[in-house]
Parts: sequence; C-alpha cells; structure tokens
Amino acid sequence: MPKSYENYVNGRWTGPKSDSLFQRENPATGEIIGSFPDSGAQDVADAVTAAVGAFESWRLTPAPRRAEILFRAAELMLARKEELARDVTVEMGKVLKEARGDVQEAIDMTYYAAGEGRRMAGQTLPAELPNKFAMTVRQPHGIVAAITPWNFPTAIPCWKLMPALITGNTAVFKPSPLSPLSASNLVRILEEAGLPPGVVNLVFGGDQTGAALVEDPRVSMVSFTGSLEVGREIAAHCGRNSKRVHLELGGKNAIIVLDDADVDLAIEGAVWSAFGTSGQRCTAASRMIVHEAVAEPFTDQLVARAGALRLGDGLEIATDVGPVVSSDSIAKIQSYMEIGREEGAAIACGGSRAAGNGLDCGYFFQPTVFTDVKPAMRIAQEEIFGPVTDVITCSDLDQAVAINNDVPYGLVAAIYTRDISKAFSALERIHTGMVYINAGTIGAEVHLPFGGTRATGNGHREAGQAALDSYSEWKSVYVDYSGRLQKAQIDR
Ligand code: NAD
Repeated sequence: MPKSYENYVNGRWTGPKSDSLFQRENPATGEIIGSFPDSGAQDVADAVTAAVGAFESWRLTPAPRRAEILFRAAELMLARKEELARDVTVEMGKVLKEARGDVQEAIDMTYYAAGEGRRMAGQTLPAELPNKFAMTVRQPHGIVAAITPWNFPTAIPCWKLMPALITGNTAVFKPSPLSPLSASNLVRILEEAGLPPGVVNLVFGGDQTGAALVEDPRVSMVSFTGSLEVGREIAAHCGRNSKRVHLELGGKNAIIVLDDADVDLAIEGAVWSAFGTSGQRCTAASRMIVHEAVAEPFTDQLVARAGALRLGDGLEIATDVGPVVSSDSIAKIQSYMEIGREEGAAIACGGSRAAGNGLDCGYFFQPTVFTDVKPAMRIAQEEIFGPVTDVITCSDLDQAVAINNDVPYGLVAAIYTRDISKAFSALERIHTGMVYINAGTIGAEVHLPFGGTRATGNGHREAGQAALDSYSEWKSVYVDYSGRLQKAQIDR
C-alpha cells in the first residue's frame, strides 16, 4: 500500500472532505510514491478560513519574532537537506546533485527572508510643511494563495511562502500534483519550526483545486508560477476581482555565442543550461544563437556532448540527465519533434523517447539538438520544456539581439563574448529580466530579483528585495504635530 498523505489545515493534518485521492509515481521507475488528497472546494474553503483566522494575530506579531520561526525552519531544512533532496529526485526526476541545489535555494531563501525580519526598511522623508513627519511602512496583503509548479518543488514554494510570511501575510499553499511529497516535507518543517496554526495551510490537488483557491473571495493575492495559459486565466480572474496577482510564467531563453567567444566555455554553459533538469527549468536555454563563423565547431561539440549524456534514475551517481516529469510531458516533447521536422528543421541528435538499458519504466527523452532552425519556427518560439535546444545562426550582434528579443517570453538570456563593449551593448538591449555574461542561463541567487519581461510575468519579481514589494503594499504615514490644520499644497 502506498503511504497516504494529508492536507494541513489550521495546524492539523487532515484527510480531504472530497474523499478523493490521487497517486504520484516516481517518473524514473513508475513506482507509486504515495497517495494524496485531491482536495475539493470545501477543503479549499476550510484552508482559507484557517488562514483568515490566523491573519490578524500573525500580522501583529513583530517581524523579528516571525523571523525566528523562519530561521528555525531554515536550520531544519539544512539538517535534513539530503533526505529532502532525495525526495525531490524521487518525485520529479532531477538528478540528486541538482535536487540538492533546489533544497539549498530553499534554505537560502528562508535565511534571506528571516534576515528581513530585522530590516524590512521603509523610508523617512521630509515633509513639505513644518512640524510634520512623513514615512512609509509595509503592510501585508492578507491571504496569499501560493500555487506552484513541480520543477523546483522546494525552492519555488519557499520563494513565495517566506517573503509572504515575513511581511505578515498568511497563506494557503497548493503545490503541483506532480510534486506533492516535497510540499508535505516543507510544511512539516514549518510546523516543527513553530509556525502557529493557520498561518500556512496546505491543500493538495490539481487544476480544479487551484481554481477554487484563486476564486475564493477571501484570497487577497495569488502568487502563481506555472504555464502562460494558466497564468493568463488567473490574471483575468484577479483583474476582474481586484486581487493582487504575481505571475512567473514560461521562457524561451537563448544563449548568444559571438565569433570572438571562448567556444569551449560556451559549450559548458550550453550543455548545462539546455539539458540540466532535463530542460525542465523556466530558465533552460532552448535556443542557441550562434555567430555563423563559429556555428560549425559549436554545433559539432554540442551534438557530441548531448549524445554522450547518460540518462537514468537521478538517484544514481552516474546519471547526467533524469527523466522528464510525466507521460504528458513525453507526448508534448514528441509532438514538437514532428512540428520541427515539418517546419524544415533537422534533428542533429536525439529526437525520440529513450528506451532499453533500464529506461523502459520511466519517462526518458533523448537530449535533442535541432539545427537549420529559423527564428520564426514554432520550435524557436514556443516553450517545449524538455531536453531540446535549437541552433540558430546569426551574422552579428545586432541580429543576435533581435532574434533573442523576438519571442513572446523574456525571462533570461546569456551572451558569450570577449569584447566588453559588445557585452555591455548586449546587456543594455536584451529585453529579459536576467542576463548572464560568459555564463549559461542558469545560476540565479536569492538576493537578486528573479523574473521576466513580457509574457514571462506581470512585472513582479521573486526573491531579493523585490519580493517584499510583491508580498506587501506601501502605507504612507503623515504625522502632524503642529497642533493646527495644515493644508498640503495650499499653505506655502
Ligand atoms: P501548470 O501551469 O500546468 O501548473 C502550475 C500550477 O497551477 C499547478 O499547481 C497546477 O495544479 C495549478 N493549476 C493548473 N490549472 C489551474 C487553474 N486553472 N487555476 C489555478 N491553478 C491551476 O505548470 P507546470 O506544468 O506545473 O509548470 C511548468 C511551467 O512553469 C512552465 O511553463 C515553466 O516555464 C513555468 N515555470 C516558471 C518559472 C518562473 O519563475 N518564471 C519557474 C518554474 C516554472
């Protein structure tokens, strides 16, 4: 019998009133990991009720006290890093060393947010009238719905929950049904760290559960990371209902390799950025925009390196690339192989589901490189979210930047060049939320803002000081100690 997991509502682990369950399998082996509540509308409503009940007291808890709980949670995560990482690998497939990175990012974010408990500065500003004092303070939104994907099952929930908590919000957390185990682990740690009942509530389930949460009128803010299609639906609902909404959506990220680049270094960045986490990162490099003078050696090396990557269970030390997350994912990636062929691109390596050598029980896809790709092709415009990358050639920096910018998304870009003028010119003109010079598209750190332009988001950012702006609102405060009516703009 698979292990059964429960929702966490108002400080208690509890089965779903929906009486419905779903199971999650290990994508490398097909083994069932556990069964989880497929929560219905009543389960969601109960969780929101708990968050509402806890809000006032949590909001009024001094931020340094709130921070102490987060700090303890970070310590617990650090102590359990290895087991948390193994569960990440088991439920969504990324190789263990990357799973450790996922957990480390969660730890970093939690420490960082805890530090804000004694900082979280507002401003003191001059007032335009005498005997008057002006300042700004942050205030929480209220109830935050944190809806997360499966590809960073520990880091992304912490990116959302920790800044939401430190700024005084309470939360209902709805993780992806493809990564429920890590969500359960994280909430257990928050409970053990001493988080009061109702401050974070966990409801498992899929799209319907998420939709019920978004639609609960008591939810003040939705923080969503996931696909563009779902993000647009959520934004439309929030727009109609005056809810705050924070969106982190897809990417179609590029690495630009100029003719003066260190090609060997660029190859290292390209392999890691295209095939790490089996290409299932929002920051994955799914386009290589390569100067025609170095296109041949670059492509030859990329194809050779992609073909040599060892597929397997992410728990095994020899594995370079784990499975993709599900059978739907395999079907989607496979469909893009057909689309690419029909559009006239060539498959230089990979191109199909991997089989044999113990891979038959899991969802493995061969690392794939498309060549002869034109910038307008669907394979160069749409997010495939698998171990697939395109090589597109360009003739100079201007063309490379234009190709980079001519996609709907704007999360991250990288450029390899030894020419500092070209590097600065590119970073100024590339229209993405993050840019790397002489490094791949992966490597965000939690104290810098994370997020993208255009269809990748709605202008908010995760992480860094910017996260505080997502999870709180400014209150401007005027204290008039003149003892008389003073009229701004009029008494001069
Ligand atoms: P998804 O949109 O299918 O699901 C994301 C979450 O939304 C899940 O918890 C899901 O159950 C829930 N959901 C689905 N329909 C819903 C609805 N109608 N209302 C409310 N909730 C709903 O995305 P996914 O497959 O889990 O994740 C992959 C996507 O996430 C990719 O597009 C990837 O680029 C993106 N992503 C973006 C970032 C970023 O920071 N920009 C980070 C990681 C992943």
